[in-house]
Amino acid sequence: MHKKIGVLGGMSAESTVTYYQYITRKYTEEFGDCGYPEIVVYSVSFQRYVDWQRLGQFEKIAGDMIHAARTLELAGAEVALIATNTMHLLFDQVQAAVRIPFLHIVDATAEAIRKRNLSKVGLLGTKLTMNAPFYGERLSANGVAMLVPDSSEQEEINRVIYEELVRGLLLESSRRRFAEIIARLRTRGAEGIIMGCTEIPLLLSEKDSSLPLFDTATIHAEKALRYAISEKG
Ligand code: GLU
Repeated sequence: MHKKIGVLGGMSAESTVTYYQYITRKYTEEFGDCGYPEIVVYSVSFQRYVDWQRLGQFEKIAGDMIHAARTLELAGAEVALIATNTMHLLFDQVQAAVRIPFLHIVDATAEAIRKRNLSKVGLLGTKLTMNAPFYGERLSANGVAMLVPDSSEQEEINRVIYEELVRGLLLESSRRRFAEIIARLRTRGAEGIIMGCTEIPLLLSEKDSSLPLFDTATIHAEKALRYAISEKG
């Protein structure tokens, strides 16, 4: 029997769907039947998190995520994911509150980048993700250097994420703008681009980018699938 996967999701609902769909479809594609691992999803009410973020009340977000993580553990999850990049800011606190392992999205992404032999990548994500130390530090521990867009570009990306993508709104004008930002990161030396926000892949695909794209939601979901079907752990 495979290990049961817990998904701490709802951040946003749009990307939680990607995780569920990826794990189940990938399994069926590869093994030809519906024997995918059991999955428990705890989907938080996300607006409170957005408001708490704006007010800098991260202890409230941490408390709520810890409650969700414990609930996943009680529901029998044996491995879990925080199904968003930004809230990995609180990864250590959430992990410390439960016994089951949470798989870190940046470690999984760094592994995928290393497999492509790239050493410098650009990061697109929320302002918090692009500025918090957890991304750069974990990447550099894995031998990967990171560049971020300039501050006005960061503002634009952040606005598109919260006003459009988390609401399922995919606009051509935003797609073009992201492509321009990627082209600028390329001139600054980026060899690849981390879509470090789990909704960005809904907007962008390889054809919009002059550089290879790393889809953190799928990479993270893939990591959980491999872990759940492996013998170890
Ligand atoms: N899902 C987005 C991310 O991967 C942003 C939402 C959030 O957690 O604030 O960062």
